[in-house]
Amino acid sequence: DADDLALAEELGLRIAQALDVARLYGEMQIALHKRDEFIAVASHELRTPLTPLMLQLGRLEQLCRGRSELATSVAAPKIHRVVRQTERLHRLIEELLDVSQITSGRFSLEPEALDLVALVRETIDGFAERLERAGCALRLEMPARVEGRWDRARLEQIVSNLLANAMKYGAGKPIDIGLTAKPDSVLLSVRDRGIGISPKDQARVFQRFERAVSERHYGGFGLGLWVTRHVAEAMGGSVSVESAPDVGSTFRVNLPRQAPTAAVAQPVAPPP
Ligand code: ADP
Repeated sequence: DADDLALAEELGLRIAQALDVARLYGEMQIALHKRDEFIAVASHELRTPLTPLMLQLGRLEQLCRGRSELATSVAAPKIHRVVRQTERLHRLIEELLDVSQITSGRFSLEPEALDLVALVRETIDGFAERLERAGCALRLEMPARVEGRWDRARLEQIVSNLLANAMKYGAGKPIDIGLTAKPDSVLLSVRDRGIGISPKDQARVFQRFERAVSERHYGGFGLGLWVTRHVAEAMGGSVSVESAPDVGSTFRVNLPRQAPTAAVAQPVAPPP
């Protein structure tokens, strides 16, 4: 009767809607996959010519620092500027490469025994010039040594990403880096007194391509914190932020000391 017919029509409509949603979902998955593929190819192609360029520029900059004619010429500051901008380009491309490594599952850790305090100091040394340009004084609060097993390059990356953000969003203000060691874990904190992050944005900033809405003019892909979080989690740790707009932000990274390597063999229970 009419009721059955209406019900059948309603059902047909619902099924058509469900199929539409499924088709859209499929198309979205394909689009996301194409995006990741594009990022992988683009970052690889961009890095290929950049690697030798960086090498040549590094040599040129060395010449500008020596006692050569070039060092005292008007070209020297211009060369330094070119090097700095190229380094920035290099960092952005490396960030894209990291993202494609992570999304494609080609990401691995190579833990080795190291002293985290020394590693933090070495990483900071590499920032000396940039810290000075940003007008950021750095205060350190670290024990003499913190031993553990971690992937060196990935740890440097975590420290670099957080410090770079602190300088970018807290230029002209002091930055505190702290390291606390517990028996099984370490806590690294990077505190700035910059623009801060609104409570609404705090959950988003660790996601891929997410940036605080109001800060588009700072430049960047919105990938650094996503990579940082992924690396920390791959090491068995976590990242968190405490922040207030116009007061500043503190990013904390908690890492187990014995970073998990590949699968650890489980002891086999003896037969009953
Ligand atoms: P990027 O800085 O390249 O945009 P990130 O993933 O490092 O990407 O950071 C994501 C967003 O989080 C930034 O765009 C910015 O809005 C916010 N953010 C990150 N670090 C800070 C900080 N120290 N202070 C204020 N905002 C920050």
